[in-house]
Amino acid sequence: MRVGECELIDKIRRRARVGAELSLGIGDDCSSIVVPPSHELLTSTDLLLEGVHFRLDWTDLHSLGIKSVAVNVSDLAAMGARPVSLHLAVGLPVDFSDRQVEQFLDGVFAGLDRYGVLLAGGDTCRSKGPLVISVTVQGFCHRNQLITRDGAGVGDELWVSGTLGDSGLALSFLQSKQPLSAFLAERHHRPEARTLLGQQLAIQGLATAMLDLSDGLSGDLRHLLKASGVGAAVELERLPLSKEFRAELQRDPGLFDLAICGGEDYELLFTAGPEMRPTLERLSVEMNLPLQRIGEITAGPELQFYTADGLSYQPQISAFDHFESTKERSRE
Ligand SMILES: [Mg+2]
Repeated sequence: MRVGECELIDKIRRRARVGAELSLGIGDDCSSIVVPPSHELLTSTDLLLEGVHFRLDWTDLHSLGIKSVAVNVSDLAAMGARPVSLHLAVGLPVDFSDRQVEQFLDGVFAGLDRYGVLLAGGDTCRSKGPLVISVTVQGFCHRNQLITRDGAGVGDELWVSGTLGDSGLALSFLQSKQPLSAFLAERHHRPEARTLLGQQLAIQGLATAMLDLSDGLSGDLRHLLKASGVGAAVELERLPLSKEFRAELQRDPGLFDLAICGGEDYELLFTAGPEMRPTLERLSVEMNLPLQRIGEITAGPELQFYTADGLSYQPQISAFDHFESTKERSRE
């Protein structure tokens, strides 16, 4: 990398926009955000480490930039918040070329544009080791509309957006050195955060609890159940699967567990009272985004999966875990 740190920050600053809500952006000691009346400021941070969360021989840097924004914005979507600003801190490997830095930043700015988020600040340094990306996002939600994990009640229905398992399937292909279709590459390398859905659920007061699926349905749903002090019964035949995922299932039925345990779907999982069903079905059509009812909340406390025959089912693979995947990779 030949560009000096000051020059790099200057380059980034020239591309960053300042908006009404971001009264101070890059260039001072802090950024400053004006929170609208009756709203709360939500903040979430994620650390992405080369070799743990991504591999540079599997992804291109432009996609990685987009994904770094999307996976963070997804956490705001999970609370029903509108994303507003983002701080980016990167440790760039010393052997990175200017072109590589440019590709990554182009991806970050493409992600920012996609979600209408302003780059408010950050930090850069050179890394003698791997690429390190730390992203902090901030957003607003009306104080009466925030959707937390702990609001699910017995009798609520369990819903999920989009389709499940595509990203996990893509990861299994990458691990076994198989090429990815354009669809699977998009789902894994450039996932879309469901920000508009999250906000609609909040504004219309439709969901009682919500989170985004980063570690897989089984693991993430357990977080929601634990926070709410309830259980759930999930009907496996109701899980939304893409055409590509179904086609692969024909070939290898064992892949089904990826829809339950595969990570990085970045879909929204939420609970809603049964009376909300018609509204949610209408919202799904309006947003052109599948919303699927997959089960219901029980007194619990356990999470149970059922087959179409009413039999209890146990997935054969454990929940997605980045560190597990690292161990897996180090054996390669
Ligand atoms: Mg999350």
